[in-house]
Formats: sequence, structure tokens, C-alpha cells
Amino acid sequence: MQIKNNDNVLVLKGKDRGKTSRVQKLIKKNNTVLLEGVNLVSRHTKASGTVRQAGIIQKEMPVNSSNLALICPNCEKKSKISIKVNPDKTKSRVCKKCNQVI
Ligand SMILES: [Zn+2]
Repeated sequence: MQIKNNDNVLVLKGKDRGKTSRVQKLIKKNNTVLLEGVNLVSRHTKASGTVRQAGIIQKEMPVNSSNLALICPNCEKKSKISIKVNPDKTKSRVCKKCNQVI
């Protein structure tokens, strides 16, 4: 997965298609990403027993990373990423549009 925490991404598929958001959390084991304000699911709750507040709670559900595109912080465009291997064997993500390391 080329997406990391706090990346800005564009949603490509689903009901939130076209939205941009920030990555809150990566869930690597099933290749999904939790995004701020994307893929909201409403849960209806009733006031009973220990729960005092009734109403609708909105909760974000993870989105598959294949439905997302990374937005380059340098050129601010939806960009394809290439991986550059540095001399010290660490890897960097490079934007194919502006050639900047992200
Ligand atoms: Zn760029």
C-alpha cells in the first residue's frame, strides 16, 4: 500500500466518489483506510439503560485502498506514485507528475 497516515487522498469509487479527505488510520491486514468524513454510516440509538442520548451516531467505515488516489502535497494533484530506492536502501515515494518526494 502506498498510502500513509495523514496523506490527502481522493475517493475514486463509491458514494463518496470525488471527495478528498485525510487518512486517519491504515488497516493493513485488509488493505483498507479510515478517512475523515468518508463512508459515513448512521447508527440509530435508543435511550435505554446506560445510554442516555438517543439519536443518530455517524461513524466512519474503512474504504478499500484501491478505491483511493493519493493527492501530491507538492503539486496538489491526483498523482501516480513511483517508488525510489535510496542509496541507504530506504524507499521514498516520488510523484510522477512533479518528481518531488512525498
Ligand atoms: Zn506532485
